[in-house]
Amino acid sequence: MRAKTKMIHGGITTDEQTGAVSVPIYQTSTYKQEQVGKHKGYEYSRTGNPTRHALETVIRDLENGTAGFAFGSGMAAITSIMMLFDSDDHVIITDDVYGGTYRLMTSVLNRFKLDHTYVDTSYPEKVEAAITDRTKAILVETPTNPLLKITDIKAMAEIAKKHNLKLIVDNTFATPYWQQPIDLGADIVLHSASKYIGGHSDVVAGLAVVNSEQLAEDLHFIQNSVGGVLGPQDSWLLMRGIKTLAIRMEAMEANTKKIVSFLQDHDKVSTIYYPGIKSHKGHDIATSQASGYGGMVSFDVGSAEQAEKVLERAKYFTLAESLGAVESLISLPAQMTHASIPRERRLELGITDGLVRISVGIEDSEDLIEDLKQALQ
Ligand SMILES: *Cc1c(COP(=O)(O)O)cnc(C)c1O
Repeated sequence: MRAKTKMIHGGITTDEQTGAVSVPIYQTSTYKQEQVGKHKGYEYSRTGNPTRHALETVIRDLENGTAGFAFGSGMAAITSIMMLFDSDDHVIITDDVYGGTYRLMTSVLNRFKLDHTYVDTSYPEKVEAAITDRTKAILVETPTNPLLKITDIKAMAEIAKKHNLKLIVDNTFATPYWQQPIDLGADIVLHSASKYIGGHSDVVAGLAVVNSEQLAEDLHFIQNSVGGVLGPQDSWLLMRGIKTLAIRMEAMEANTKKIVSFLQDHDKVSTIYYPGIKSHKGHDIATSQASGYGGMVSFDVGSAEQAEKVLERAKYFTLAESLGAVESLISLPAQMTHASIPRERRLELGITDGLVRISVGIEDSEDLIEDLKQALQ
């Protein structure tokens, strides 16, 4: 089955009880047992719920893994994955990871002595140099936010294998429609499903997929023990989102290409960050490991003042955090998503005061371009 077909026919597509073609929302916490210990596979909804199970099965199929898991948010997914490790273990992490992941590692899990080092994972040699005898995993995000930096997943998998580490990939930006990290050698893939997978700015959720029976057993134990599970209603919303993931991704990317070429010709725009541009640093690797470049673009308009004006004037690009939805969004990383990072560090990473980030939606591309044109004037 190819990806587009899997989105419709993957996982569990019909309800066995009734034949309903949309898996029902099993809004239940517990299940009647026929005798003590004799049940139909479900005992309590933290441990398992049929609606969540259907979602977990379709994401497993989309990522070509052994088992899928649904959590109450992307952060709950990442936290649960980190619970697979012990205190005094060490994890190598992409240096410009999602701010919430940075905060989790730096201000929460550090208290439990789970150590970490931030590395520019777009340089495999830097990753190898950061490995210690306590290193247990490499966590990479590719493409990253907001500079769309690319990490070579295959190169990471080779390093992980050589040193007996787990390779974890945050696949939020690419989605399984464009990029399947398990096929490239990753052990665990995770998503903030609040973004492209949900796709309609109406649900906060996280997903994870693992590549072995052992990891499946271990992560299920954590999911059930820690309890950050996704409810049946939100599980259903994600399954509904997944059905149109392929066509949304295609539509967003088609719009993005037109917007990028408009921005390239605009005299008020300097650097543009988009993996689809030939001069983008990770372009060749992005082309080799993903079948699309996505709908996220960042560009520099010179100053915070000019950037603020662009954000205020934009009409169809809603000024908001988050990304990956049908509606186009616009944000100013230095003052929004990355405000908690000291300015000096931000500039080191390349996140300038005038950097504008857009998440392109599925509106008419002509309207989006006209909107950016008037906003940039
Ligand atoms: C949003 C996001 C997260 C966190 O997910 P939530 O669903 O907001 O908890 C993690 N990684 C990336 C890349 C994200 O964009």
